[in-house]
Amino acid sequence: MAKKGRILSGHRPTGQLHLGHLEGTLRTWAGLQDDYECFFEIADWHALTTDFEETEALRENIEQVAIDWLAAGLDPERSVLFVQSDVKEHAELHLLLSMVTPVSWLERCPTYKEQRDQIGEEKTAGYGFLGYPVLQAADIIIYKADTVPIGKDQLPHLELTREIVRRFNNFYGNVFPEPQAMFSEFALVPGTDGRKMSKSYGNTIDLADEPDEIEQKIRKMFTDPTKIYQGDAGHPDKCPVFVYHGIYNKARTEPIKAACESGDLGCVDCKAEVTEKLLAALAPVMARRRELEADRDLVRDVLDSGAEQARQVAAATMEDVRAAMKL
Ligand code: SF4
Repeated sequence: MAKKGRILSGHRPTGQLHLGHLEGTLRTWAGLQDDYECFFEIADWHALTTDFEETEALRENIEQVAIDWLAAGLDPERSVLFVQSDVKEHAELHLLLSMVTPVSWLERCPTYKEQRDQIGEEKTAGYGFLGYPVLQAADIIIYKADTVPIGKDQLPHLELTREIVRRFNNFYGNVFPEPQAMFSEFALVPGTDGRKMSKSYGNTIDLADEPDEIEQKIRKMFTDPTKIYQGDAGHPDKCPVFVYHGIYNKARTEPIKAACESGDLGCVDCKAEVTEKLLAALAPVMARRRELEADRDLVRDVLDSGAEQARQVAAATMEDVRAAMKL
Protein backbone atom coordinates (compact mmCIF):
# COMPACT_ATOMS: atom_id res chain seq x y z
CA MET A 1 0.00 0.00 0.00
CA ALA A 2 1.34 3.44 -0.92
CA LYS A 3 2.42 5.50 2.08
CA LYS A 4 1.11 8.99 2.67
CA GLY A 5 4.55 10.54 2.96
CA ARG A 6 7.91 10.42 4.69
CA ILE A 7 8.54 11.37 8.30
CA LEU A 8 11.70 12.31 10.15
CA SER A 9 11.72 12.74 13.89
CA GLY A 10 14.06 11.95 16.75
CA HIS A 11 15.25 12.29 20.30
CA ARG A 12 18.49 13.47 21.82
CA PRO A 13 20.26 10.76 23.81
CA THR A 14 20.30 12.68 27.08
CA GLY A 15 19.36 9.71 29.27
CA GLN A 16 16.52 7.32 29.76
CA LEU A 17 13.19 8.33 28.33
CA HIS A 18 10.24 9.01 30.60
CA LEU A 19 6.45 8.95 30.60
CA GLY A 20 6.37 12.37 28.93
CA HIS A 21 8.24 10.92 25.95
CA LEU A 22 6.07 7.80 25.90
CA GLU A 23 2.74 9.61 25.86
CA GLY A 24 4.01 12.73 24.07
CA THR A 25 5.83 11.22 21.12
CA LEU A 26 6.47 7.49 21.17
CA ARG A 27 2.85 6.36 21.05
CA THR A 28 2.21 8.86 18.22
CA TRP A 29 5.25 7.70 16.26
CA ALA A 30 4.34 4.04 16.75
CA GLY A 31 0.88 4.77 15.33
CA LEU A 32 2.32 6.43 12.21
CA GLN A 33 4.45 3.52 11.08
CA ASP A 34 1.88 1.86 8.83
CA ASP A 35 0.86 5.04 7.04
CA TYR A 36 4.22 6.81 6.61
CA GLU A 37 7.78 5.90 5.72
CA CYS A 38 9.35 6.69 9.07
CA PHE A 39 12.94 7.65 9.84
CA PHE A 40 13.64 7.95 13.57
CA GLU A 41 16.97 9.46 14.53
CA ILE A 42 18.88 9.32 17.80
CA ALA A 43 20.41 12.77 17.53
CA ASP A 44 23.76 12.35 19.29
CA TRP A 45 25.41 15.35 17.60
CA HIS A 46 22.54 17.49 18.85
CA ALA A 47 23.29 16.32 22.40
CA LEU A 48 26.81 17.74 21.96
CA THR A 49 25.55 21.25 21.19
CA THR A 50 25.17 21.87 24.92
CA ASP A 51 26.72 18.79 26.58
CA PHE A 52 29.99 18.77 24.66
CA GLU A 53 32.06 18.25 27.81
CA GLU A 54 30.12 15.27 29.13
CA THR A 55 30.49 12.52 26.57
CA GLU A 56 31.29 9.49 28.77
CA ALA A 57 27.65 8.38 28.96
CA LEU A 58 26.79 9.09 25.33
CA ARG A 59 27.11 5.55 23.94
CA GLU A 60 25.14 4.03 26.78
CA ASN A 61 22.49 6.77 26.48
CA ILE A 62 22.13 6.02 22.76
CA GLU A 63 21.43 2.36 23.54
CA GLN A 64 19.01 3.31 26.30
CA VAL A 65 17.01 5.46 23.87
CA ALA A 66 16.99 2.61 21.35
CA ILE A 67 15.75 0.20 24.04
CA ASP A 68 13.00 2.62 25.07
CA TRP A 69 11.97 3.11 21.44
CA LEU A 70 11.78 -0.60 20.70
CA ALA A 71 9.97 -1.31 23.96
CA ALA A 72 7.41 1.38 23.14
CA GLY A 73 6.59 -0.18 19.77
CA LEU A 74 8.90 1.42 17.19
CA ASP A 75 9.39 -1.44 14.81
CA PRO A 76 12.58 -1.83 12.74
CA GLU A 77 10.62 -3.92 10.22
CA ARG A 78 8.46 -0.89 9.42
CA SER A 79 10.69 2.08 10.31
CA VAL A 80 14.32 3.10 10.03
CA LEU A 81 15.87 3.56 13.48
CA PHE A 82 19.37 5.01 13.38
CA VAL A 83 22.02 7.12 15.12
CA GLN A 84 22.68 10.51 13.53
CA SER A 85 26.50 10.28 13.70
CA ASP A 86 26.42 6.94 11.83
CA VAL A 87 25.26 8.84 8.75
CA LYS A 88 28.09 11.30 8.04
CA GLU A 89 26.17 12.83 5.14
CA HIS A 90 24.22 14.86 7.72
CA ALA A 91 27.45 16.72 8.54
CA GLU A 92 28.18 17.49 4.89
CA LEU A 93 24.69 18.83 4.29
CA HIS A 94 24.86 20.84 7.53
CA LEU A 95 28.05 22.48 6.28
CA LEU A 96 26.57 23.31 2.88
CA LEU A 97 23.33 24.65 4.37
CA SER A 98 25.34 26.81 6.77
CA MET A 99 26.71 28.65 3.71
CA VAL A 100 23.24 29.80 2.70
CA THR A 101 21.77 30.43 6.16
CA PRO A 102 22.07 34.01 7.46
CA VAL A 103 23.30 34.17 11.06
CA SER A 104 20.48 36.63 11.84
CA TRP A 105 17.92 33.87 11.14
CA LEU A 106 19.56 31.73 13.81
CA GLU A 107 19.89 34.54 16.34
CA ARG A 108 16.22 35.39 16.09
CA CYS A 109 15.10 31.80 16.71
CA PRO A 110 13.02 32.07 19.93
CA THR A 111 14.61 29.03 21.57
CA TYR A 112 18.11 30.47 21.06
CA LYS A 113 17.69 33.27 23.58
CA GLU A 114 15.38 31.27 25.81
CA GLN A 115 17.84 28.40 26.17
CA ARG A 116 20.84 30.68 26.57
CA ASP A 117 19.05 32.25 29.53
CA GLN A 118 18.08 28.87 30.95
CA ILE A 119 21.26 26.86 30.35
CA GLY A 120 23.81 29.66 30.72
CA GLU A 121 26.48 31.30 28.59
CA GLU A 122 29.17 28.69 29.25
CA LYS A 123 27.34 25.86 27.50
CA THR A 124 25.71 27.90 24.75
CA ALA A 125 28.49 30.18 23.51
CA GLY A 126 29.73 27.80 20.79
CA TYR A 127 28.84 27.86 17.11
CA GLY A 128 27.33 24.37 17.47
CA PHE A 129 24.56 25.71 19.68
CA LEU A 130 23.79 28.68 17.44
CA GLY A 131 23.88 26.48 14.34
CA TYR A 132 21.95 23.49 15.59
CA PRO A 133 18.74 24.47 13.78
CA VAL A 134 20.79 24.17 10.57
CA LEU A 135 21.83 20.66 11.58
CA GLN A 136 18.21 19.93 12.36
CA ALA A 137 17.21 21.17 8.91
CA ALA A 138 19.85 18.89 7.39
CA ASP A 139 18.49 15.94 9.41
CA ILE A 140 15.02 16.44 7.99
CA ILE A 141 15.69 17.32 4.39
CA ILE A 142 18.48 14.82 3.76
CA TYR A 143 15.66 12.23 3.74
CA LYS A 144 13.45 14.59 1.72
CA ALA A 145 10.95 14.17 4.55
CA ASP A 146 7.69 15.96 3.77
CA THR A 147 6.11 15.57 7.21
CA VAL A 148 7.47 16.32 10.68
CA PRO A 149 5.42 15.43 13.77
CA ILE A 150 6.04 18.24 16.26
CA GLY A 151 4.62 20.06 19.23
CA LYS A 152 3.49 23.66 18.74
CA ASP A 153 6.59 24.94 20.61
CA GLN A 154 8.85 23.46 17.91
CA LEU A 155 7.12 25.26 15.06
CA PRO A 156 9.71 28.10 14.82
CA HIS A 157 12.44 25.53 14.15
CA LEU A 158 10.46 23.85 11.41
CA GLU A 159 9.65 27.25 9.93
CA LEU A 160 13.40 27.95 9.86
CA THR A 161 13.96 24.65 8.04
CA ARG A 162 11.35 25.67 5.50
CA GLU A 163 13.06 29.06 5.01
CA ILE A 164 16.42 27.33 4.51
CA VAL A 165 14.83 24.97 1.95
CA ARG A 166 13.31 27.92 0.05
CA ARG A 167 16.63 29.75 -0.01
CA PHE A 168 18.57 26.67 -1.11
CA ASN A 169 16.04 25.79 -3.82
CA ASN A 170 16.05 29.38 -4.97
CA PHE A 171 19.82 29.33 -5.51
CA TYR A 172 20.30 25.82 -6.85
CA GLY A 173 16.98 24.47 -8.14
CA ASN A 174 14.21 22.44 -6.66
CA VAL A 175 16.11 19.81 -4.69
CA PHE A 176 14.17 19.64 -1.44
CA PRO A 177 10.45 19.52 -0.57
CA GLU A 178 9.29 21.98 2.10
CA PRO A 179 8.42 19.80 5.09
CA GLN A 180 5.02 20.30 6.69
CA ALA A 181 4.23 20.17 10.40
CA MET A 182 2.01 17.40 11.68
CA PHE A 183 0.40 18.34 14.98
CA SER A 184 -0.97 15.44 16.89
CA GLU A 185 -3.17 15.28 19.93
CA PHE A 186 -1.26 13.77 22.77
CA ALA A 187 -1.41 13.73 26.51
CA LEU A 188 0.84 16.14 28.39
CA VAL A 189 2.15 14.21 31.37
CA PRO A 190 3.16 16.46 34.26
CA GLY A 191 6.21 15.63 36.36
CA THR A 192 5.89 14.45 39.94
CA ASP A 193 6.23 18.06 41.16
CA GLY A 194 3.46 19.30 38.86
CA ARG A 195 5.82 21.07 36.43
CA LYS A 196 6.55 19.85 32.90
CA MET A 197 8.16 16.40 33.12
CA SER A 198 11.85 16.93 32.45
CA LYS A 199 15.10 15.27 33.45
CA SER A 200 16.53 18.68 34.35
CA TYR A 201 13.80 19.17 36.98
CA GLY A 202 14.40 15.71 38.50
CA ASN A 203 10.65 15.00 38.35
CA THR A 204 10.45 12.15 35.85
CA ILE A 205 8.95 8.68 35.91
CA ASP A 206 11.29 6.77 33.61
CA LEU A 207 10.35 3.85 31.41
CA ALA A 208 13.29 2.01 33.01
CA ASP A 209 12.02 2.54 36.58
CA GLU A 210 11.07 -0.57 38.52
CA PRO A 211 7.42 -0.80 39.67
CA ASP A 212 8.35 -0.10 43.31
CA GLU A 213 10.27 3.06 42.28
CA ILE A 214 7.21 4.25 40.37
CA GLU A 215 5.01 3.49 43.36
CA GLN A 216 7.30 5.55 45.61
CA LYS A 217 7.49 8.44 43.17
CA ILE A 218 3.71 8.63 42.92
CA ARG A 219 3.32 8.29 46.69
CA LYS A 220 5.49 11.40 47.11
CA MET A 221 3.85 13.21 44.20
CA PHE A 222 2.63 16.80 44.48
CA THR A 223 -1.16 17.14 44.91
CA ASP A 224 -3.63 19.96 45.52
CA PRO A 225 -1.87 21.78 48.40
CA THR A 226 -5.19 22.86 49.98
CA LYS A 227 -6.24 19.24 50.54
CA ILE A 228 -4.32 18.31 53.67
CA TYR A 229 -6.59 15.76 55.38
CA GLN A 230 -8.71 13.06 53.78
CA GLY A 231 -11.99 14.85 54.55
CA ASP A 232 -10.83 18.15 52.99
CA ALA A 233 -12.47 19.09 49.71
CA GLY A 234 -9.91 18.90 46.89
CA HIS A 235 -9.45 20.60 43.53
CA PRO A 236 -8.63 17.90 40.96
CA ASP A 237 -8.04 20.55 38.28
CA LYS A 238 -5.01 21.72 40.31
CA CYS A 239 -3.64 18.23 40.90
CA PRO A 240 -1.19 16.41 38.59
CA VAL A 241 -2.31 13.04 39.97
CA PHE A 242 -5.71 13.72 38.47
CA VAL A 243 -4.06 14.28 35.07
CA TYR A 244 -2.63 10.77 35.40
CA HIS A 245 -6.15 9.45 36.06
CA GLY A 246 -7.21 11.18 32.83
CA ILE A 247 -4.56 9.24 30.91
CA TYR A 248 -4.42 5.85 32.66
CA ASN A 249 -7.78 5.55 34.40
CA LYS A 250 -10.12 7.30 31.96
CA ALA A 251 -13.24 5.32 32.88
CA ARG A 252 -13.03 6.48 36.49
CA THR A 253 -12.22 10.19 36.12
CA GLU A 254 -15.76 11.41 36.87
CA PRO A 255 -16.25 9.46 40.13
CA ILE A 256 -12.67 10.33 41.23
CA LYS A 257 -13.31 14.02 40.56
CA ALA A 258 -16.54 13.96 42.54
CA ALA A 259 -15.05 12.02 45.45
CA CYS A 260 -12.00 14.34 45.60
CA GLU A 261 -14.18 17.45 45.56
CA SER A 262 -16.52 16.11 48.26
CA GLY A 263 -13.64 15.01 50.47
CA ASP A 264 -14.70 11.35 50.37
CA LEU A 265 -11.49 10.33 48.63
CA GLY A 266 -8.08 10.77 50.23
CA CYS A 267 -4.89 11.34 48.27
CA VAL A 268 -3.29 8.09 49.49
CA ASP A 269 -6.10 5.94 48.04
CA CYS A 270 -6.35 8.08 44.94
CA LYS A 271 -2.63 7.65 44.25
CA ALA A 272 -2.77 3.90 44.93
CA GLU A 273 -5.52 3.49 42.33
CA VAL A 274 -3.71 5.45 39.64
CA THR A 275 -0.43 3.64 40.37
CA GLU A 276 -2.13 0.30 39.73
CA LYS A 277 -3.54 1.54 36.40
CA LEU A 278 -0.28 3.15 35.34
CA LEU A 279 1.71 -0.01 36.09
CA ALA A 280 -0.81 -2.11 34.16
CA ALA A 281 -0.46 0.22 31.14
CA LEU A 282 3.33 0.13 31.38
CA ALA A 283 3.64 -3.62 31.95
CA PRO A 284 4.14 -4.60 28.27
CA VAL A 285 6.71 -1.80 27.75
CA MET A 286 8.57 -2.83 30.91
CA ALA A 287 8.58 -6.51 29.95
CA ARG A 288 9.92 -5.77 26.46
CA ARG A 289 12.48 -3.39 28.01
CA ARG A 290 13.83 -6.15 30.25
CA GLU A 291 14.21 -8.50 27.26
CA LEU A 292 16.08 -5.85 25.28
CA GLU A 293 18.37 -4.96 28.20
CA ALA A 294 19.42 -8.61 28.19
CA ASP A 295 20.06 -8.62 24.43
CA ARG A 296 22.20 -5.59 23.64
CA ASP A 297 23.51 -7.26 20.46
CA LEU A 298 20.00 -7.16 19.05
CA VAL A 299 19.71 -3.45 19.91
CA ARG A 300 23.05 -2.67 18.23
CA ASP A 301 22.06 -4.75 15.18
CA VAL A 302 18.85 -2.73 14.81
CA LEU A 303 20.84 0.53 14.87
CA ASP A 304 23.51 -0.78 12.46
CA SER A 305 20.93 -1.95 9.97
CA GLY A 306 18.97 1.32 10.35
CA ALA A 307 22.14 3.33 9.67
CA GLU A 308 22.74 1.27 6.53
CA GLN A 309 19.25 2.04 5.22
CA ALA A 310 19.48 5.72 6.21
CA ARG A 311 22.88 6.09 4.55
CA GLN A 312 21.53 4.86 1.22
CA VAL A 313 18.84 7.54 1.16
CA ALA A 314 21.16 10.26 2.51
CA ALA A 315 23.89 9.42 -0.01
CA ALA A 316 21.43 9.66 -2.92
CA THR A 317 20.27 13.09 -1.68
CA MET A 318 23.86 14.30 -1.40
CA GLU A 319 24.46 13.31 -5.02
CA ASP A 320 21.50 15.53 -5.98
CA VAL A 321 22.85 18.33 -3.78
CA ARG A 322 26.38 18.20 -5.21
CA ALA A 323 25.01 18.10 -8.75
CA ALA A 324 22.69 21.04 -8.09
CA MET A 325 25.53 23.07 -6.50
CA LYS A 326 27.93 22.02 -9.26
CA LEU A 327 30.42 20.68 -6.70
S1 SF4 B 1 -7.71 13.04 45.96
FE1 SF4 B 1 -6.57 12.62 44.11
S2 SF4 B 1 -7.16 14.18 42.65
FE2 SF4 B 1 -7.80 14.89 44.70
S3 SF4 B 1 -6.06 16.14 45.40
FE3 SF4 B 1 -5.75 14.07 46.19
S4 SF4 B 1 -4.46 13.07 44.66
FE4 SF4 B 1 -5.34 14.89 43.74
